[in-house]
Amino acid sequence: MSEKRDYYEVLGVDRNASDADLKKAYRRLAKKYHPDINPGDKEAEAKFKEINEAYGVLSDPQKRQQYDRFGHDGMNGMGFGGFGDFGFGFDDIFESFFGGSPFGRSTRRQNRGPRRGADLRYTLEIDFNDAVFGTTREFKITRMQTCGSCGGSGAKSGSSPQTCKRCNGTGQIRHVQATPFGQMVNMRTCDMCKGEGTIISNPCEQCHGNGRVQKTSTIKVDIPAGIDNGQTISLRGEGESGIKGGPSGDLYVNIRVKQHPIFRREGYDVICEMPITFTQAALGAEIEIPTLEGKMKYEIPEGTQTGTIFRIRNKGIKHLRSNSKGDLFVKVNVEIPTKLTGKQKEILRQFAEASGDDVFVQRKNFFEQVKDLFQ
Ligand SMILES: [Zn+2]
Ligand SMILES: [Zn+2]
Repeated sequence: MSEKRDYYEVLGVDRNASDADLKKAYRRLAKKYHPDINPGDKEAEAKFKEINEAYGVLSDPQKRQQYDRFGHDGMNGMGFGGFGDFGFGFDDIFESFFGGSPFGRSTRRQNRGPRRGADLRYTLEIDFNDAVFGTTREFKITRMQTCGSCGGSGAKSGSSPQTCKRCNGTGQIRHVQATPFGQMVNMRTCDMCKGEGTIISNPCEQCHGNGRVQKTSTIKVDIPAGIDNGQTISLRGEGESGIKGGPSGDLYVNIRVKQHPIFRREGYDVICEMPITFTQAALGAEIEIPTLEGKMKYEIPEGTQTGTIFRIRNKGIKHLRSNSKGDLFVKVNVEIPTKLTGKQKEILRQFAEASGDDVFVQRKNFFEQVKDLFQ
């Protein structure tokens, strides 16, 4: 046996330390050096072993007396050595000895009982107009669903899962170790039921005892008018089914809106560009403009310049959560005629002649500005 440190020294207490002092010292050190907090740290593990041993002896009045009289030699043959196996968990130590976990955490039973099904995501592409006016769409998803054959129990119909006899349905097995502390209770996952607490001796043939099967279902989703690209619709409970009666997860439908050939969206406003002829621009005209609801007549004034934007109120997109609507902006582009006939060219020449400089007031102004720049 290697050289051992004095047990009082190990716990950092003096020889007259009370039981409460010992317990306090032990608890502080056990927390510090527990292998769960120092994974892979051999030194911490050795320290932890050492403090356990020290506390095991000093907390027992009879052993403490023996130790006080004979030192380490007095411990021989007292059946020590129960701490070679570090099978016990951190919580177990504190629950066994101090009636509560220091961190309030519980790593037990994480596999047992009802569990919520997973959330799912689906990307749904819709047309521009469907986003504007709302629609109902259907799509198929494949997900884990409660097995219809066994109702989720996993047991063949007519039978039911049996409570595990080894763990009495707790999913955990208590290993009781005799240690210098007294009885050390060590909880482990039941290997017979894998922590489930129940055993299915006659598994359902559909789900092989899983309680869930993969199924493809048709989902119907109402798409509200005004939804925009990138927005998500949550369908509660349409994710994967829960386990052991747990709630289902949710399904998040991510909306992708296809581009429209002529309309562009900005918030709840809609923007479009349209060509008008040179003469319409010059003379003014009643033109047809596209709106989300179809064509509409619109009067443009004479002398409309290319790039002019007309705003048509309340012809945009309905707000998602109110009845107000955005606006429609129409930008007109004046097209300069190409491929003129001889007759058209002749008329334009006459037009230029008749205009003299008057028509070109703007051009003249422009050149005057340029002249100013270079003076
Ligand atoms: Zn089944
Ligand atoms: Zn069990």
